[in-house]
Amino acid sequence: MQAGLLSTYREPVKNRNAFAWGVSIALFAFYFLLYLPDYGYFPDYLNLFLRDTLGFQKFNKWNFYGLLYSAGMLVGGWFMLQKHGNSRYHRLRTYTLVSVQILFGFSLPFVLKLLNQPELYLSYLWPLSYDKLFPDTLAQLPVYVALYFVVTSLVVFPLLAFYKGKRFYCSWICGCGGLAETFGDPWRHLSSKSDRSWKIEQVTIYSVLALVLLTTGLMIADASSKAALVGRAGTEEGARVELGLSLAAHAEAIRGASADTLGASVAAIEAEVAAANPPEWLAEKLDGVRAEAAAGDVPGTADELKNMAYAAMPVTPISGLAHSMRGFYAFFIGALFSGAAGVGLYPLMGTRVWCRFGCPMAAMLGFFQKFGRFRITVKKDMCISCGNCSTYCEMGIDVRQYAMGNLDIKRASCVGCGMCAHVCPRGVLKLETRPDTGPGGAVQVWTLDL
Ligand code: SF4
Ligand code: SF4
Ligand code: SF4
Repeated sequence: MQAGLLSTYREPVKNRNAFAWGVSIALFAFYFLLYLPDYGYFPDYLNLFLRDTLGFQKFNKWNFYGLLYSAGMLVGGWFMLQKHGNSRYHRLRTYTLVSVQILFGFSLPFVLKLLNQPELYLSYLWPLSYDKLFPDTLAQLPVYVALYFVVTSLVVFPLLAFYKGKRFYCSWICGCGGLAETFGDPWRHLSSKSDRSWKIEQVTIYSVLALVLLTTGLMIADASSKAALVGRAGTEEGARVELGLSLAAHAEAIRGASADTLGASVAAIEAEVAAANPPEWLAEKLDGVRAEAAAGDVPGTADELKNMAYAAMPVTPISGLAHSMRGFYAFFIGALFSGAAGVGLYPLMGTRVWCRFGCPMAAMLGFFQKFGRFRITVKKDMCISCGNCSTYCEMGIDVRQYAMGNLDIKRASCVGCGMCAHVCPRGVLKLETRPDTGPGGAVQVWTLDL
């Protein structure tokens, strides 16, 4: 039996008692502090502390969060390997997950920011990172980076999910899954294995995917309608679109700037706005931008400028709906569900609440996995019904039921963490990717021993 199994339900942090509730409340409070100021609920205490108390200009709350997240994964990964490090599979994927987070989830974006370049999170792709394929996001990227996001999200990932299962991403690359596998390991057994949970997850996860598809479609339709207006050079509408696009680009550039250069940037923008001869009410929006710049608030200035860019755009029939959907998704799904609840519920409902009930990437890759080659094979008549596999499945799959019925497991939700096979005392389970038939009718088999 693997180390750790026997103590699972004895430790207070792991068995939903008062201590676990306290940890959950603390995690929720931290995420509210992180996200809610961006929606105007209260002052941005984290950014104010970093900037005014500690004097950091280029290290904002998101960089702090990236650092904390990486540290959580590093320490959590070390603890996880104390229990499960006797498996080569778990050693390799834990090293990979932590390295990807440190390199691509924290270091690269921060270094790019220090170089005044856009912060790129290359390991987060659409539809998990819901705005990666929005036209305004792609327009601000170098062409080769924009191509990387489009081709990887729409072609490479679905193909890999078909041939290898979604574990290539969910258990080896994704930062959200990475936190669950490392920092969240003490709570993986808390996921519900009931049929009711399975039914709920099928409804919620595909609903979130539908929301992303709808929002992305609306944003593309909005951009197309505005692009058509740009072509109407010389008209008032055409000029307003050009001004709006230019202000949005300035807003992104300012996010990577320092407080020292804010004054110069805003002066240049004021001149541009004056030359465009906008309506008086739009020019008044500059007051908000000036006030934030005078306070030296870099994110505040960028946000005000983005508001102004949006206000500058002529209202097409589709734009109101597109931007409302974007705001709805960003707040309810992006901030509250995937952020606050996704991690805050670790000590109460297990580590993959977001992965299981909400993540649109899981829905998309799961669809290709279900019809692809990945499966967990079951050795016939070997299961002794101990239940370790089901207990430790973070995605709430009742693995034992399949094993007892001598049935291979092909579930869209399986993230291929391999823990079920690892904790099985009889070696009943094996993760495999094989086609049913190969060239000439022979069956090809590729296996990864655990
Ligand atoms: S289910 Fe979604 S959030 Fe979870 S690991 Fe996979 S892609 Fe990441
Ligand atoms: S079925 Fe096994 S490999 Fe799949 S998510 Fe559950 S524990 Fe991980
Ligand atoms: S498959 Fe293995 S871990 Fe799961 S119930 Fe059977 S013997 Fe136990």
